[in-house]
Amino acid sequence: MTDWPALDRQAHINTYARLPIVLERAAGTKLWDIDGKEYTDFLSGLGAVNLGHCRAEVVNAVCDQARRLDHVSNLFYSPVQIELASRLAEKTGGRCFFANSGAEANEGALKLARRWGKKTHGPNKTGVVSALGSFHGRTLATLTATGQPAKSEPFAPLPSGFSYVPFNDLEALESALDETVCTVLLEPIQGEGGVWPADPEYLAGARRLCDERGALLIFDEVQTGVARTGRFFAAEYADVEPDIVTMAKSLANGFPIGAFIAKPEVADAFGPGDHGSTFGGGAPICAGALATLDIVDSEDLAGRAAKTGAHFRNGLAALGEETGRLKNIRGLGLMVGVTTERPEARALASALLEKGFIINNIGDEYLRFLPPLTITTTEIDTMLAALKKELKSDA
Ligand code: PLP
Repeated sequence: MTDWPALDRQAHINTYARLPIVLERAAGTKLWDIDGKEYTDFLSGLGAVNLGHCRAEVVNAVCDQARRLDHVSNLFYSPVQIELASRLAEKTGGRCFFANSGAEANEGALKLARRWGKKTHGPNKTGVVSALGSFHGRTLATLTATGQPAKSEPFAPLPSGFSYVPFNDLEALESALDETVCTVLLEPIQGEGGVWPADPEYLAGARRLCDERGALLIFDEVQTGVARTGRFFAAEYADVEPDIVTMAKSLANGFPIGAFIAKPEVADAFGPGDHGSTFGGGAPICAGALATLDIVDSEDLAGRAAKTGAHFRNGLAALGEETGRLKNIRGLGLMVGVTTERPEARALASALLEKGFIINNIGDEYLRFLPPLTITTTEIDTMLAALKKELKSDA
């Protein structure tokens, strides 16, 4: 039998702490490994398969489009790309640039903010403020914007002009917003940092401060977007509109796409030659994204995520009360985080994997759940029963 882990170690640069499973097949909320063992997915890739795996309408849209017209350069008009940009414009009122990933979406948004800053306020308007504990990507600029020095410092020297504020602290943001700042970049819920929602007042305050100080507000909705949190965008809960919103992950239900969407007056800061991508907005991916958005809307997946998410958090809260081992149950919709009383998040995730549930630990302190939005309450209850057994086994 092929030893895939051994081949993987030889063939890949060692950047992923792989889990000991070789996956072969998926459908809906289920995945199967090469031995035929079934897993229920509470992670959706990493928040990238909101409709569930191998959703036929999306796969067919990608394949049909690939057979009709596979790749053309962005020097030409592409109807399916224009249709997708128009759909996103309906949702945001902005204009769109397509990239291939979340990091690229944020990288492009930061470039646009700097171009806008210099054009509208002069050469020194280039500063970027982001939050401690944030995550915005792995390119040099987005890694620098990521407020986690442990991740970025090994790659110093880093791009200049970036500063950081504690998350959810409006006074700190006010102090950081001097006249050189062109943009504030925030996740409405910090995902990789442990599922920490921004207070609605914080987002509204950030909007007000940016308006007062002549800076752009960028919301990174790479993980929170596409109905994950019970609204199409998480920032809708706070009723705050950013100047630029970035998306990726589930926009084409697992096929690679990223996008940043800017208000028209901001978008105008870019002209031909300022930004580009060979693959960004490729026709098959755009067809997949359109099919994804059709389903998100027609099946009201946001409404479903809100309801199922409430059931999930209630279940976790009950489990926390019963066992005394879980606290601080948080999140919106089906973006759910919990803190373990003991440093056992890693062990719990491993034990659940063994039992056929893919859940995520962030360090040894937090568990994160990002199931497909199609997950059922029965599947949630079954997973919670397995988690309960684990928590009680060595009480
Ligand atoms: N922004 C946020 C909020 C993310 O959660 C992620 C990935 O986890 C990224 C950006 C980077 O996205 P990608 O891995 O597609 O580059």
